[in-house]
This record gives sequence, structure tokens and C-alpha cells, in this order.
Amino acid sequence: MAVQRTFSILKPDATERNLTGAINALIEKAGLRIVAQKRIRMTREQAETFYAVHKERPFFGELVDFMISGPVVVQVLEGENAVLKYRDVMGATDPSKAADGTIRKLHAKSIGENSVHGSDAPETAAIEIAQFFSGNEIVG
Ligand code: ATP
Ligand code: MG
Repeated sequence: MAVQRTFSILKPDATERNLTGAINALIEKAGLRIVAQKRIRMTREQAETFYAVHKERPFFGELVDFMISGPVVVQVLEGENAVLKYRDVMGATDPSKAADGTIRKLHAKSIGENSVHGSDAPETAAIEIAQFFSGNEIVG
């Protein structure tokens, strides 16, 4: 498996509780490198575009409102098998179903306020990275 990149967001429930460092420590402990990172406040338009795949789901409005409710930290993570590795580190979407030691088990508040996002495939990772970073902001 070659070195891969994935896109990560530390969501508003995480920044609100000052968990950026604690979550980054779990990411780095898993062998992923943070090769780009910035703290931003997403616009409604950015959040709607980012989660457009969920537009028809009943929780879409709530999800967008949550993502713009406070600062987020957007990141590019790099490592062997990074997409799947980060999904493992994150744990299941619903924290009550997440495995011990995962970010969501340790920190998420609920299925909606679940602390982190990670891309679900290399193709979506490339699209998501390009939505938030230009090439010269990523330093591997
Ligand atoms: P993410 O895409 O954020 O990494 P995921 O891939 O584990 O999470 P998705 O099914 O893609 O989960 O859902 C995207 C996000 O929508 C979830 O992370 C969560 O914040 C929110 N969400 C998903 N299901 C629900 C639900 N039933 N109620 C409220 N919010 C939900
Ligand atoms: Mg998803």
C-alpha cells in the first residue's frame, strides 16, 4: 500500500472543548502525519457543498448548522493506507458504537456532534482536500 492522503475536520464540538491537541496526539500516535492544517470558520455555503451528498437526509439542516456553529480545524493527513487508517482511528459515526480508544469513543458527544470527519475513499479525499487547501499549503 502506497502513501496516501486523507482529509480531516476537527468539528466545532471538539474545538469548543479545546480538544485539538488531544485529537492530534491520537492521529500522530496512529502513524499519520498532519501535512496541512488550518483553523477556519466554515461558511454555510462551504458546509452545504461539503456535505451535499447528504442533502436529502433528514439531519442535513442540523448537520450544516452544527458545522458552522464554531471554528473547525481542517487537515490533510498522510501515511500508509491513510483513508482507512484514519477511519479506524475515528471510530464509528455513533460514539456509543465506536471501539475503545478511538477518537469518537473518547471524545464525541453524540452521533451528530461526533468530533471528527474523515474521507471515506481516496477519490473523495482528493475532492475534499481541494475544497479547502491549495497545493502549496500542503507540505509533506
Ligand atoms: P463524516 O462524513 O463526518 O466523517 P461518517 O462518514 O462517519 O462521518 P456519514 O454517514 O458520512 O458519517 O454522516 C456525516 C455526518 O452526518 C456524521 O459524521 C454526523 O455528524 C452526521 N450524522 C450522520 N448520521 C446522523 C444522524 N442520524 N443524526 C444526526 N447527524 C447525523
Ligand atoms: Mg462520511
